[in-house]
Amino acid sequence: MIKEIKKNLPSGYRIYKRSIQKTDRSTFALVRTPEDEKYLYCLGQQYDGFQGGKRMKEGVLYPLTPNNAFILIEIFPFLKPKSLGINNPSFGFGDRLGVATPGHVRAVSSHNNIIPIFAQQSIRELERTKRTPEEVISCAVWGVFQEGYKDGFGADADHLKTLKDVDRVAPYGFTMFTCDPSEYVNSQAAVMSRKELKKEFDVINEREKLEKRYVDREFKVGSLRLKFSEEELMRAAVKYYRAIKHAENMYRYIKSRVKGEFDFELSIDETEEPTTPKQHLFIINELREAEVHVTSIAPRFVGDFQKAIDYIGDLDEFARQLEIHVEIAQAFGPYKISVHSGSDKFSIYPLIKEYTKGLFHVKTAGTSYLEALRLISRIDPEFFSRIFHFALERFEADRRTYAMTTDLSNIPDIDRLPVKELPKLLEQNDARQVLHVTYGSVLNQKDRDGNYLFKDRLMRILNDHEEEYYELLIRHFARHLDPLS
Ligand SMILES: [Zn+2]
Repeated sequence: MIKEIKKNLPSGYRIYKRSIQKTDRSTFALVRTPEDEKYLYCLGQQYDGFQGGKRMKEGVLYPLTPNNAFILIEIFPFLKPKSLGINNPSFGFGDRLGVATPGHVRAVSSHNNIIPIFAQQSIRELERTKRTPEEVISCAVWGVFQEGYKDGFGADADHLKTLKDVDRVAPYGFTMFTCDPSEYVNSQAAVMSRKELKKEFDVINEREKLEKRYVDREFKVGSLRLKFSEEELMRAAVKYYRAIKHAENMYRYIKSRVKGEFDFELSIDETEEPTTPKQHLFIINELREAEVHVTSIAPRFVGDFQKAIDYIGDLDEFARQLEIHVEIAQAFGPYKISVHSGSDKFSIYPLIKEYTKGLFHVKTAGTSYLEALRLISRIDPEFFSRIFHFALERFEADRRTYAMTTDLSNIPDIDRLPVKELPKLLEQNDARQVLHVTYGSVLNQKDRDGNYLFKDRLMRILNDHEEEYYELLIRHFARHLDPLS
């Protein structure tokens, strides 16, 4: 097959062997030109719908656009994202640059009990990377096609906050919708006096129903019996009731907009105070009353889940609380416990594996961008050093939407580091965080002539050294997936 393709392409073209696919009338493959550009090559009878084709002696080369990806999905159903359900644990590989999927595919291939999400982007990431939802899906699809991966994958529209956000992503084949109602969570509830609490509780129009449902009632959760005091009910309701109503609206709206099965995740991880097990119970019990079916819930756990670094906190306490969260998820679902900001949390993966009994979803995103920067630091240290200086300048502004305890004084002076040691910055927690949160600024910064200051060169290096990038990703994600599976 490869010979047949080769003889029809000019010399110097390379073929991605694993990508070769046949239909009854044509052969498809991903190819690389001598100029290191990637194209879809179709030999034989051509299909309708592909755009921008360039005729070769035999066959046609098509650019890797979203349009062409969506046409290819229709021809090869293994490229179509699917819903995950709860039978397998799952793992989200966010890819902000759109070139990491082949590495993600190879990383997950040796862990076939874990279902991957290869397309995953939050609304905040879409804004910061200036990407579109169809680009996110399409990049994942091209990566899956390149690797010939047929085991199935999901697509997560992450941290959707409004119905408008749903409109933005609904048409493009996402199969997982992560609802983030954090703007409706009243985090003051944790510190309110009883009087203030009562005042807020009294304006909830269903409060009598809530009292009946919770006060003086015992909830059987696995081996536990959970009871709400009046005050606990008020705190849970004042904190989460409006958020639950919002989640309910989002769920119904998604259902009306999306054909076929989908996974619905409720994420309340981006709140100040941890979600107590009883509050978790309150939330799922209310969602169940409203007939909202969740595939996963992301609580805000105890301890600190900062970007790009390991878990900070008491591991025993984390394990104790996780165990109860899992018991609730099994008694009221079952559904998965989802761990956001899940990259680089090496100390808790064994606990997640042990306590969730496979009912987990772990999300990662920025860590694949950091591996890209690790590659840059090795290949082009001078360029990396410029990125790092710029990131330092941008850090204070960009960190605002993240809860982090970064201490810049811990970062060694990059100008004094020997070039060989620059990659070590990727091992230093504070430096990692600086690079992690400034991705939007780095990718979008332009010079006076309107050219990207970093992005084009960064993408070119990744493209020219793609195998090395994939190797870094395989190594990095093995450290995540090995202890989880
Ligand atoms: Zn999150």
